[in-house]
Amino acid sequence: MTRWKCKNCGYILEADQPPEKCPNCQQPCEFLNQTCYTPDCSKAGVDKRIK
Ligand SMILES: [Zn+2]
Repeated sequence: MTRWKCKNCGYILEADQPPEKCPNCQQPCEFLNQTCYTPDCSKAGVDKRIK
């Protein structure tokens, strides 16, 4: 499973692939891969657009 974050509203969900539409804001949002976005994983594999 991969964690995805809606670039529009910040909604986070877990799925193998990001959905076409965000279930929260109902927009065809861009989803950013947020896997490993934890302090103890050195931010490896995180989309660079997430600070
Ligand atoms: Zn959204």
